[in-house]
Amino acid sequence: MRLTVLGKSPSWQDAGGACSGYLLEEGDTTVLVDCGNGVFSKLRRYRDYCAVDAVVISHLHADHFLDLVPYSYALTFAPRQQPVPVDRWPGTDSPARPRLIAPQGAGETFRRVVGAWGSEELIERAFLLEEYERASRPEVGPLRFSFIEVPHFTETFAIGVESSESPARFVFGADSGPSDELVEFARGADLLLSEATLPRPERSGKRGHMTPREAGEHGRAADVRRLVITHLSDELDPLWAKAEAQAAFGGPVEMAREGAVYRSPSA
Ligand SMILES: [Zn+2]
Ligand SMILES: [Zn+2]
Repeated sequence: MRLTVLGKSPSWQDAGGACSGYLLEEGDTTVLVDCGNGVFSKLRRYRDYCAVDAVVISHLHADHFLDLVPYSYALTFAPRQQPVPVDRWPGTDSPARPRLIAPQGAGETFRRVVGAWGSEELIERAFLLEEYERASRPEVGPLRFSFIEVPHFTETFAIGVESSESPARFVFGADSGPSDELVEFARGADLLLSEATLPRPERSGKRGHMTPREAGEHGRAADVRRLVITHLSDELDPLWAKAEAQAAFGGPVEMAREGAVYRSPSA
């Protein structure tokens, strides 16, 4: 398995950056995990968006799904997606229609968002929507996905992915406050991609994000081989964040950066 970071910003983009978006690949299978603001442009830099087999969405916050809007416009209106005679566009005998694997209720949310300008069906016509719940285990080529709910401000799922072609397991913690269930879910993973959004824990109310130190604690408790912290703003001191995460993890921690590639099994 191979994971490429397309975007790692929190709910506002870094300068020149993109929100949550990660490309997962095994052989010819390509899955985009999350599609936040700015991710479609980054996806185009690395891959043909028509060649993506599926998009998996962790939760319905703007920074995790909003670029489904330009992605849907591309799948609908790009010249090669038009129903024109095949000989004009060799190799494009039918328009691409990737699967869109999103939490229950996603269809209604998408219709509300794009319905604001009267295009209710935009996303569901461009993609094949499948709504998942906690017990769902969708498969895309050799990749098998699993989910657990994590503490956040809307229903949110951490995503586990395994491949029938390699023994590796990757876990994406999505946006999450501290969670023992997340530790169990990530136990022994080859790679844990954990958010580390906060300079300090939330001062009041529900926990819905983590500090870099807490991300490190989760990685250590789960005994993961490799910890990558993400969902960090470029306005947060990276040296501080890395030092905090490493002190808690007890080993090297990587900071997600756009274009970084992680392969499994990790070296
Ligand atoms: Zn987020
Ligand atoms: Zn969120």
